[in-house]
Amino acid sequence: MNQNLLQTPIEYLKGVGPNRAETLKKELDIRTYRDLINFFPNRYLDKTGFYKIKDLQQNSSEVQVIGKIVHLKAIEQKRGQRLVADFIDETGKMELVWFRGHKWIRENIQLNTPYVIFGKSNFFNGTFSMPHPELEKLEDYKKSLRPAMQPIYPSTELLQKKGITNRVIMKLMQEVLQQTGLNFSESLNAELIGNLKLITKSEALFNIHFPKNQELLAKAQFRLKFEELFFIQLQLLRKNILHKQKIKGFNFDKIGENFNTFYKQHLPFELTGAQKNVIKEIRADLGSGAQMNRLLQGDVGSGKTIVALMSMFIALDNGFQACLMAPTEILSVQHYNGIIELCNNLKTSVYILTGSTKTSRRREIHQKLENGQIDILIGTHALLEDKVKFKNLGLAIIDEQHRFGVAQRAKLWNKNTTPPHVLVMTATPIPRTLAMSLYGDLDISVIDELPPGRKPIKTVHRFDSNRLKVFRFIKEEIEKGRQIYIVYPLIQESEKMDYKDLMDGYESIARAFPENQISIVHGQMKPADKDYEMDRFVCGETQIMVATTVIEVGVNVPNASVMIIESAERFGLSQLHQLRGRVGRGAEQSFCILMTSHKLSNDSKTRLETMTSTNDGFEIAEVDLKLRGPGDLMGTQQSGVLTLKIADIVKDNSILQTARNYANKILKEDPNLSMEKNTAIKQAYSRLVKNKTIWNYIS
Ligand code: ADP
Ligand code: MG
Repeated sequence: MNQNLLQTPIEYLKGVGPNRAETLKKELDIRTYRDLINFFPNRYLDKTGFYKIKDLQQNSSEVQVIGKIVHLKAIEQKRGQRLVADFIDETGKMELVWFRGHKWIRENIQLNTPYVIFGKSNFFNGTFSMPHPELEKLEDYKKSLRPAMQPIYPSTELLQKKGITNRVIMKLMQEVLQQTGLNFSESLNAELIGNLKLITKSEALFNIHFPKNQELLAKAQFRLKFEELFFIQLQLLRKNILHKQKIKGFNFDKIGENFNTFYKQHLPFELTGAQKNVIKEIRADLGSGAQMNRLLQGDVGSGKTIVALMSMFIALDNGFQACLMAPTEILSVQHYNGIIELCNNLKTSVYILTGSTKTSRRREIHQKLENGQIDILIGTHALLEDKVKFKNLGLAIIDEQHRFGVAQRAKLWNKNTTPPHVLVMTATPIPRTLAMSLYGDLDISVIDELPPGRKPIKTVHRFDSNRLKVFRFIKEEIEKGRQIYIVYPLIQESEKMDYKDLMDGYESIARAFPENQISIVHGQMKPADKDYEMDRFVCGETQIMVATTVIEVGVNVPNASVMIIESAERFGLSQLHQLRGRVGRGAEQSFCILMTSHKLSNDSKTRLETMTSTNDGFEIAEVDLKLRGPGDLMGTQQSGVLTLKIADIVKDNSILQTARNYANKILKEDPNLSMEKNTAIKQAYSRLVKNKTIWNYIS
């Protein structure tokens, strides 16, 4: 196939012209013949078969029926009339209904003449009816040429306004397929095509637009989805390989005093098997000579902090510094306190730097950092400031990755001429397949085991009307010596209203629990005040913590055993799961109570049901992904990253796996795609990379 022909600007296609070309560019990003051919329908009207009236189903979609109109009458209704036709075939009777265009129907319809009708049928009062059907005389129907299954293309308001209707797109598509002659060059190798029994590229492209039947459509979809996912995986895996070849990292081949002393003398508990494995993986990376770029996934409470610390010890043992960055002040402080405690009796020098660090202290830290007097620096985004210069940063750990943008990750990278090793830790488990697609350039470790002795958290859903019972329960728990979180939503757009809800809630709780001390923490407080309130709760001075979601991430108070989430219907699943993870950290039975009003959307119901039925973060992530779609899951920063042309990361999961396996296999054998049999793949791949058709990956 002549590649140049496919590069022809779209305005040269018959039926397009400069105006339409402009609209196609603007609305659909269609610039060339190739772009048009790669603009796929999102559904099809199946006109391959005919229904008998007696076989119509109540919930069927569009159907096609042959029959005759035997009677036509106007029925008065509130506003104007509707025109109703009795339509029969040899098996039964149905109604055709028009609310507009009566004149045309009356003048053109021929009674008792065979027609083919097409449309969506409704079932009402024991009769099937079809509003505004497509109508064509059987005689004409037989003569005309048409696709058996009509493609329906995604559209926009502007396209409609400019008259670029579905019919127009179909016409253009026919034109472009005719001109390009339907002999597209192959883009996969013979082995793949044979093993997966794929149809040819040309067949696939033709049938995705004008399927001859359902079976060919399914084959076309499979081939194109596979191809899309295959080339993405190929790109990710190649990037990973190149990265390992090219980007030299510090070689931490020593395991020395810091690590060993800690491991032998100060380890506060036996590591879980999963923790040991992950530390092994990290050790191997750090000693490989290539820069580590690893994602550590572990559910809330799975014990990532100690893994982080032990990894940092390896850096120190090799004469380097390490840093640990967290998204919030509270979390940084907590990491700092936890790590100070673990490093008690060790010579390690640990500092913290956040937005609220005083200027004089800040200066001291800057200096000590450059002198190498600081081993480990913990902090917030403040670590990213240009003034913060390390003597020799060897390992950067980022906790709670999804809060940090990609640019920030890059900034840490650039702190040295040789990039430090990077470990990204996340407690928002994302399904492995999605992780592979999003972070294909990172290696992935998973802590899939909780420390022993944890009791699963009991989660229930209660309506606001049962608040008194919930209060009684809280009282009992406090009497047993436990502490309680009560969390209110905080959504940026309605910050004022949320603030009011929080304050109202605080007051009603203060009234209901006059004997107890209550902490309150929200985003509008000064960091020092936040810390003060937080500390009171941590040391047990207060029994109840009323807060917005600022406490979402990482806060660790083992004695807190009840998490009450107010307006739980307003939270996303991963957030609910994160919040719940604040309890269940001690030896006591913990509870999570999801409070909602009676008004619940279907999605809210699914979220609540999921939360009450499982504690497994990965399972929850799967449901979340299904509810929200992958773009959303990653937050706005990365949304749109996963807008694929035809495949769907969630629904086409197994195709994704297959694509990844094959991409892996091919690259293992032929990393540069230079073997003869892979020529087609190499050509297609280079073109995709050159045209940036494969989207540019983060990082
Ligand atoms: P997360 O993965 O959510 O960051 P943390 O590192 O904060 O989890 O650990 C949660 C709690 O579990 C902490 O109190 C920690 O001391 C404890 N912990 C971690 N690992 C173990 C283990 N192997 N055995 C017992 N307790 C552990
Ligand atoms: Mg943590």
